[in-house]
Amino acid sequence: MRILLTNDDGWNAPGLNLLAASLRPQAEVIIVAPDRNRSGASNSLTLNDPLRVESLGPLVYSINGTPTDCVHLALTGLLDREPDLVISGINDGSNLGDDVLYSGTVAAAMEGRFLGLPAISVSLVDAPDRRYETALEVVRVILDHLESVLWPADTILNVNVPSIPWAQLHGFRATRLGHRHRASPAIRAQDPRGRPIYWVGRAGPAADAGEGTDFHAVASGAVSVTPLEIDLTRHPALPALAQWLDTLPHD
Ligand code: MN
Repeated sequence: MRILLTNDDGWNAPGLNLLAASLRPQAEVIIVAPDRNRSGASNSLTLNDPLRVESLGPLVYSINGTPTDCVHLALTGLLDREPDLVISGINDGSNLGDDVLYSGTVAAAMEGRFLGLPAISVSLVDAPDRRYETALEVVRVILDHLESVLWPADTILNVNVPSIPWAQLHGFRATRLGHRHRASPAIRAQDPRGRPIYWVGRAGPAADAGEGTDFHAVASGAVSVTPLEIDLTRHPALPALAQWLDTLPHD
């Protein structure tokens, strides 16, 4: 199997390199990753600046762009052969609920899917004790059973792994996205010249985190696997919206 591996934490992040080392015995792994931490980059593409690719070793490239740039460029010009699968991660921190809208990790997997490849995003839940080895085992098990997965078209799998030993995991759970409360306020500070600067505050705590959600699964020590599609249309709202639009004056 030929795997395109990327992330949003940057090419030198431990999650990506541990995963590459763990996959290499069983797969051809090509790393194309941002040259720095681009967490929160979402699906952004760099359109007004050129992208530069740095070759850091055999089949390891860094790009001065976003995670989406990396996958886009890899699949539309950089690689001479298509990979069979795109894996994004292992991200340092969870991507649960609303996080997926901001996440560069999830976006990189989406870009792989947009360009026609099966794609998985993998995140390790925040904890003082980072159990990357558990996430490595999770990826290994998923890949070993990939042939039997019922993989719907235009869908990526968003995987979140609790940071606990593999032996303590409570299995795998199919989940839906939960929701977070509003984010903490921005933090205002001052630069050395007295001008105001701001830090975006922390993501809010879980709000919709009941049974069946990704939040609930990882909180119960299970691996959360959410099938994500890209269609954001609120389909049930269409008929009422259409009716209202018909009442608007036009000619
Ligand atoms: Mn990240």
